[in-house]
Amino acid sequence: MSNSKSNSILVFIEINQNNHDIKDVSKQILSNVSILGADVIIIGDDLSDENREKLKNLGADNIYTVNSNIFPGSNYSPDGFARVVSEIIKGNDYKFVFSGVTSKSKDFFPILSATFNSAMISDVTKVDIDGSSNISFVRPLFAGKCLANVIPVDNGPRPYFITVRPNSLTINPTPKIGRGIVTNKSPTLSANEIRSKVFELVKGASDRLDLTEAKIIISGGRGMKNADNFKLLHEMANILGASVGASRAAVDSGFAPHSMQVGQTGKTVSPELYIACGISGAIQHLAGMRTSKYIVAINTDTNAPIFTKADYGIVGDLFQVVPILTEILKENI
Ligand SMILES: Cc1cc2nc3c(=O)[nH]c(=O)nc-3n(C[C@H](O)[C@H](O)[C@H](O)COP(=O)(O)OP(=O)(O)OC[C@H]3O[C@@H](n4cnc5c(N)ncnc54)[C@H](O)[C@@H]3O)c2cc1C
Repeated sequence: MSNSKSNSILVFIEINQNNHDIKDVSKQILSNVSILGADVIIIGDDLSDENREKLKNLGADNIYTVNSNIFPGSNYSPDGFARVVSEIIKGNDYKFVFSGVTSKSKDFFPILSATFNSAMISDVTKVDIDGSSNISFVRPLFAGKCLANVIPVDNGPRPYFITVRPNSLTINPTPKIGRGIVTNKSPTLSANEIRSKVFELVKGASDRLDLTEAKIIISGGRGMKNADNFKLLHEMANILGASVGASRAAVDSGFAPHSMQVGQTGKTVSPELYIACGISGAIQHLAGMRTSKYIVAINTDTNAPIFTKADYGIVGDLFQVVPILTEILKENI
């Protein structure tokens, strides 16, 4: 039956609630690390045949699915999830347990790391696997001011818990094909053993793809002047299939909800294209978006710091530039 003991990696997989597909970050991780032998765990999300096949084709050998009915209200509980994942870990000999940087992993991976008294390497932006199967990581420090190379030692407590920033890895187009053996696990804990319960999940203000998953993000700052003007960004986002973000100044001014905030105290994003409209480019904002593949800035101030990070800069009034761009995109997409 399952032969999970030979694998050194477990990946926590999440499913996108709006399209029921596997989250991109889960695919990005699995397709890159499965060369070393990987199992996966999915908690609470029903595994469709299509997603099972995808996981297999991304390299998953054992696919552990765990029913989450015991987690009331939201199908989620931080200590409940930690307990369920630790039961899988204890039955195996994993060296690394991976997840994307998501709301759930930010919440329960530190509990796992404390449970096993082992290291957590968070917000990784690069995973290197050399010819001898040695693995190392790169992670930004001090709001992205410097990058740390992290080389795990072999004799440390196992496993290491690694979270990877969405979109910082690309999906490996030719991953190893796994065995895709599904094992349904029942949690051994009962509902009254769970200490923290999430009773309700409040849906975000936007129906668009979560910022951390989005390939294109158009963000507005204080230069947007008011909440109503954000409709200019939403109009352009509709054409590009983009998500809309905001700076903290825009959020603090009530132009946008906190769920849209990008930066040190908001979300960390790494889209292929980030368009900053009326955002000065403070270090705390850059911390959340500087790893975007292409950055476009629209700002009236030639000296705005955002231009030092932008691949393309437009010096101009966003209220003139954005509608022109939207018209051009409408005609060409
Ligand atoms: C501990 C801490 C945590 C923080 N966390 C975050 C965070 O997570 N995210 C974040 O964003 N910030 C964060 N900040 C705040 C950060 O320091 C900045 O204050 C904030 O990013 C500024 O937002 P802004 O660029 O929208 O506003 P401003 O700095 O006021 O810039 C507005 C820009 O709009 C331009 N502009 C004005 N009108 C127009 C126009 N018509 N057309 C084009 N351009 C125009 C201006 O030239 C200016 O460059 C944090 C600060 C602290 C201290």
